[in-house]
Amino acid sequence: MARIEEIADNYNLKVIYDAAHAFGVKDNDGGLLNHGDLSVLSCHATKMFNTFEGGAIICPDEKTKHRIDHLKNFGFVDEVTVVAAGINGKMSEINAAFGLLQLKGIDDALAKRKIIDARYREGLKNVTGIRCANVGEHVANYAYFPIFVNAQNRDLLYEKLKANGIFARRYFYPLISDFTMYRSLPSAAQSNLPVARKISHEVICLPLYPNLENEEIDFIVSLIA
Ligand SMILES: *Cc1c(COP(=O)(O)O)cnc(C)c1O
Repeated sequence: MARIEEIADNYNLKVIYDAAHAFGVKDNDGGLLNHGDLSVLSCHATKMFNTFEGGAIICPDEKTKHRIDHLKNFGFVDEVTVVAAGINGKMSEINAAFGLLQLKGIDDALAKRKIIDARYREGLKNVTGIRCANVGEHVANYAYFPIFVNAQNRDLLYEKLKANGIFARRYFYPLISDFTMYRSLPSAAQSNLPVARKISHEVICLPLYPNLENEEIDFIVSLIA
């Protein structure tokens, strides 16, 4: 992020982060969401903190917040004053209500996720052919549990888990640059994205949610082993 900020300063650019997964994530400066001009969270059902659908924009000051408030509500300031060409980007009341309920239990959910993460790590530490992603303990929000599998075996393992009722996910796969509508762009050339390409064929995210039972974790570990 320091490097991105440097480039932005140099060219007088704004930085908007896709911080979809970064709820509760910290770095040495505090909250990860404090970086850039804006940070955007996803509260989709697959995220650590969710409102079923929805999201949040983290902004640095009140003026920016008012601007966003206007833009997300058709540019309305009041019944007769419209100050911008806005969109209907409001979060619905029902989604917000789900979010408020989730917030009440979020510390407990985080603590449970941390224990599950540790059990996966312990169970998988001697399994050959896979590698667990290492995120520093002080920064993690235990949203997902990604493992790296040899590209030749990744889909075999994915299918085996699925055949046993375990619905792991291959993130982020396929790579966006492989979508038909982007594939032919010069920036989507394979040679531009060697690391992303390699990883997209190696990752499986194992199920991780607060009420995942120990026996279920152990079953998943035994299938992988
Ligand atoms: C989930 C996700 C999104 C999309 O979030 P929505 O709430 O569905 O708009 C965008 N970027 C990343 C990296 C994500 O994981």
